[in-house]
Amino acid sequence: MLSLKFNVNVCKNCPTSDCLVKCQYMNIDKDTAREQMVKIYNGEDSFVLHDCVTCYACEEYCRRGNNPFYLITERREEKGILTTPRAITNQWVNIGEPTGKYRLGDVKGRVLSLGFMPELLQLVKGRLFEDVMPSYLFGNDFFCNVVFIHFAKTSIIKERLPVVIDKYRNLGVKEVICMHDECYGAFASLAPAYGIEVPFTPIHYFEYLYDRLKALSDVITPLNITVAYQRPCSARLSADKQHYVRDIMELIGVDLVHREYEDENALCCGEVMGWLYGYDLKYDLQKRNIDDMVKNGADYCLFNCNACQNALSEKVAKRGIKSVHMIDLCRMAIGEKPEMEV
Ligand code: SF4
Ligand code: SF4
Repeated sequence: MLSLKFNVNVCKNCPTSDCLVKCQYMNIDKDTAREQMVKIYNGEDSFVLHDCVTCYACEEYCRRGNNPFYLITERREEKGILTTPRAITNQWVNIGEPTGKYRLGDVKGRVLSLGFMPELLQLVKGRLFEDVMPSYLFGNDFFCNVVFIHFAKTSIIKERLPVVIDKYRNLGVKEVICMHDECYGAFASLAPAYGIEVPFTPIHYFEYLYDRLKALSDVITPLNITVAYQRPCSARLSADKQHYVRDIMELIGVDLVHREYEDENALCCGEVMGWLYGYDLKYDLQKRNIDDMVKNGADYCLFNCNACQNALSEKVAKRGIKSVHMIDLCRMAIGEKPEMEV
């Protein structure tokens, strides 16, 4: 049975308890935070298990790599503290089941993983991807299953993630370029937290894009536009790769606005929160987030995650802000896409 690497003694001696002190959805002081993490570890009930809205952020806030959110998720499942009605959880569990439905391109040692999102296939073209395509894959059997931490269903991840990793192993791939933060987080954060061996190097697609843009620097035309970055919840599992957003914007001549809700303080798109905790929370998050983009003069909202883009693009358009995915923005800079209209 896979067990979480969590060291309660690190919590007992933690000088900050930032995991819960920085939580944007609960107001918790340092001593209470430390006390609650110890209670949660010991299997006692805690208000945190009931009030956590599954934003993933404490995984980033804990600088000691102690995986507080994975622990909260495990204890919720053990205690039957569901985040959503059982029927909805089961529907998701069924949707993500590995059923042999997947598609492989001409897979080589280095492969582009589109995970569970075939729609990404229309983005990964042109010169940015010419040194890896057509080596790609996607489908249920390559679905990382990380989304189940929103549903307090770690058991599904523990059951399926090793099988997914075995699929990659059987293909003999050495490097997997992950086109979504959650897939990257599965291999770089969740798997190590549960002691699951990953027989390849996961590469975040931001890092891949940055390297490609540097190689194509002679064809970049600075875009001279102003963007606000919509950082997704899953970015909390790849926080060390988020600096590439600034690095890429510098390379392509884009002004990234400073916002109240940036970096560690980012707000998620609200979509999953809406399903789990109701529309009041979702609309409050979205309003504060978009107000902040408008106030700071963004012309574009820059998306990394398709789910965020689906949730927010119409709403930002109503406020005069255009939507663009990171890949499309990079393709604009190398002259492969025209500027988009609202
Ligand atoms: S989970 Fe991390 S931040 Fe929270 S109390 Fe433990 S060591 Fe400190
Ligand atoms: S996942 Fe988010 S809401 Fe839940 S405890 Fe961590 S920081 Fe707070």
